[in-house]
Amino acid sequence: MFDRLAADDYEQVVLCHDRATGLRVIIAIHSTRLGPALGGTRFYPYPDDASALEDVLRLAKGMTYKSAAAGLDLGGGKAVIIGDPAVARTEALLRMYARFVDALGGRYITAEDVGTTQADMDLIRRETAYVTGVSRSLGGSGDPSAATAYGVLHAMKAVAKHLWGGTDLEGRHVVVAGVGKVGYALLRHLVEERARVSVADVAPAAVERAVRDFAVEAVPVEKAHAIDCDIYSPCAMGAILNPVTIPELHCAAIVGSANNQLADPSCSDLLVDSGVLYAPDYVVNAGGVINIAEELIGYHRERAYANVRRIFDTTTAVIDTAVDRGISTATAADRLAEGRIASVGRVQLLRTSPRVRR
Ligand code: NAD
Repeated sequence: MFDRLAADDYEQVVLCHDRATGLRVIIAIHSTRLGPALGGTRFYPYPDDASALEDVLRLAKGMTYKSAAAGLDLGGGKAVIIGDPAVARTEALLRMYARFVDALGGRYITAEDVGTTQADMDLIRRETAYVTGVSRSLGGSGDPSAATAYGVLHAMKAVAKHLWGGTDLEGRHVVVAGVGKVGYALLRHLVEERARVSVADVAPAAVERAVRDFAVEAVPVEKAHAIDCDIYSPCAMGAILNPVTIPELHCAAIVGSANNQLADPSCSDLLVDSGVLYAPDYVVNAGGVINIAEELIGYHRERAYANVRRIFDTTTAVIDTAVDRGISTATAADRLAEGRIASVGRVQLLRTSPRVRR
């Protein structure tokens, strides 16, 4: 266990248990170098404890990089509640979980993720202030999906500027794979931009809604990545970019909201070789965390959205660095995040108040 934590430099992993409610949760804090570790709570029926631990570690580290690259004063953390939310979710379990979050004294701040909802965050709020993404009526920012989609749009504009000399998406063919919360919100922006949009989703109802509401074209899910288009936008599951799909790509660029799009780190080099411009997932999809981070200083929508628009600049900086240094965009994003953690992180080392023992 400790060798695994040392390999990726994790600060703290907490196991919490409550027999009465059946609560089993792992909270992983990867880094608090830039600020409190913010990341969502995943509620999922993991087959065993080892897979839950591996997932929470991977996700927590991902949050460190996402927030660092986005310029936030936040570290990275994540929590997983082991169990099927459809069966195990109860008010008592969530509030007990919230007490454990509270006991960390603000080192970890939670939010919504797969298997948890805004209503869950509202319940958690009754036990701790260390939660974001609560309802607007409680002073929160609500569902982050709209902000995430808005950020994806601005990443697309940065890519368009790099590839075609202007931010205009009019007439560009964009394939959106996954038209759930983020994908659907993205469609609205793309249609407003007069892009030509195709959609794919494993859920027929999601496709029907998109086609009905936006008069877009539907394409088969299994072919979505291989369609000849300007931008392929994965907005569903991870690992969609792998040694099988990458040779089949016929797009100029990939800009989507899905987390962990690369099946493994070597896929970024395969993408470079295939000539497809990959906008790194955690740079592109940071709109959600940028938006909820605003809750920590008092949510203000205009200020939050202005910050989300900065994803344009971050995406541009990553692409420029990759071109200048002859490295992949994925590596350029990692270096941006690691550089900021190293340089800004050390600012806090300067002690400003003496801690004198009496
Ligand atoms: P969602 O569950 O609302 O939507 C996902 C959609 O993808 C669903 O309609 C589902 O039917 C579809 N889908 C599932 N498997 C598919 C496949 N193989 N091919 C095509 N479609 C498929 O989720 P969401 O909140 O829209 O998130 C989408 C992605 O973006 C996820 O990877 C998520 O982790 C990531 N993300 C979301 C946010 C956010 O604010 N919601 C923020 C950052 C990252």
